[in-house]
Amino acid sequence: MFCATYFWFERLQVKQLQKIFLYPDIFYSGLLKADVKGLTFKHTAIHLSWKNFKEGYDNPDDKINLGLHELAHALKFDLEDELGFDSHFANYIDDWQRISEKEYNELANEVPSFLRSYGGANREEFFAVCVEHFFEAPEAFEDELPDIYNHLCFLLQQNPQNTTSDYLLTPTFLEKIKANEELIPLKPKTRIHHLRESFYGLSLLMFVSGLVIGVPVYLYYSEMLLTENGFFKAVAIPVFIFGLLQSVFFKIRGFNNMGYFVAYNFIGFVFLTLSLFVIVNYSIREKKTATRLHKIRLIDLEVVEGRGTGKYILTLEKNELINYIDVRTFSKSEVGDITHSQMENSEIFMVLHLSKGFWGIDNVLSKRLIQIGANNSYR
Ligand SMILES: [Zn+2]
Repeated sequence: MFCATYFWFERLQVKQLQKIFLYPDIFYSGLLKADVKGLTFKHTAIHLSWKNFKEGYDNPDDKINLGLHELAHALKFDLEDELGFDSHFANYIDDWQRISEKEYNELANEVPSFLRSYGGANREEFFAVCVEHFFEAPEAFEDELPDIYNHLCFLLQQNPQNTTSDYLLTPTFLEKIKANEELIPLKPKTRIHHLRESFYGLSLLMFVSGLVIGVPVYLYYSEMLLTENGFFKAVAIPVFIFGLLQSVFFKIRGFNNMGYFVAYNFIGFVFLTLSLFVIVNYSIREKKTATRLHKIRLIDLEVVEGRGTGKYILTLEKNELINYIDVRTFSKSEVGDITHSQMENSEIFMVLHLSKGFWGIDNVLSKRLIQIGANNSYR
């Protein structure tokens, strides 16, 4: 039976378990105010009575195994947030619970079963008791409750009866279940995406790439866009809502602690999508360009917290482009020697060189200031 436990670790990962505490015998739990054989704490540790742990393996077929029982609790505890869990297990546990629902309800109502009555205490104990039976009496389990057994094989990625080839789930095993019309078929393939090993991992990846790539790219390119005011209504809000729907979808799929997912996925998803949007608009643009002239009413040094930033912000006539501060911002060298008095004597224009992008939004290809003296402006 140590083999089975070994494969348990090999095929599935209990990710958040940090420590296992061993006690010589049954010990007192202050939390439960009772003597216990074993206890599993979420995200941290399993506490075991060594005597009872050993008994589990001394009697390999009595369907009682403390070590497997507590490990089963730890595996399920992992699913309670996105800090790390086995993705295959997470993706299939709901299916397995659905398939075993009827048996659980009967056991909870004290209907005699192949499974130990303690499994009727709650859903967690039911799973842990099933795991004990699975490793200690697989043949009888399959005979008595074939669907629960078969799907548990799939859930735990192993068949304890396949002693000749590494306890693996063979194609023959899957075929056999599919061929028997009385059984609920298993999924044809086991798919494990290592990249998506956990939602925490996926969310973190999205968050970091959004922060490192999405946000800077978006800010850089959006400076060169004349997005008009409809941009946020037409693009940003739908992207935001789509991100929210994803989160709701994953929540429905049974993943808890939405907070992580929303925060990580939103920064990531929203900004990666928006940055893609602006890159496409800039890269795939019309060859035809247009030039626009805007008369300037005022040039003012940008002041932040009482100190000049070295940048100048233009105010255009009729407050044109009022929402596009980036387009109206110029460096000292771009402003050159234009002074307020010069502005009174001549006319200053901002020249924008534009081309329409893929999404129909104007890209600012270049911008500069020109000065037309009062004497020659109407030549
Ligand atoms: Zn238990």
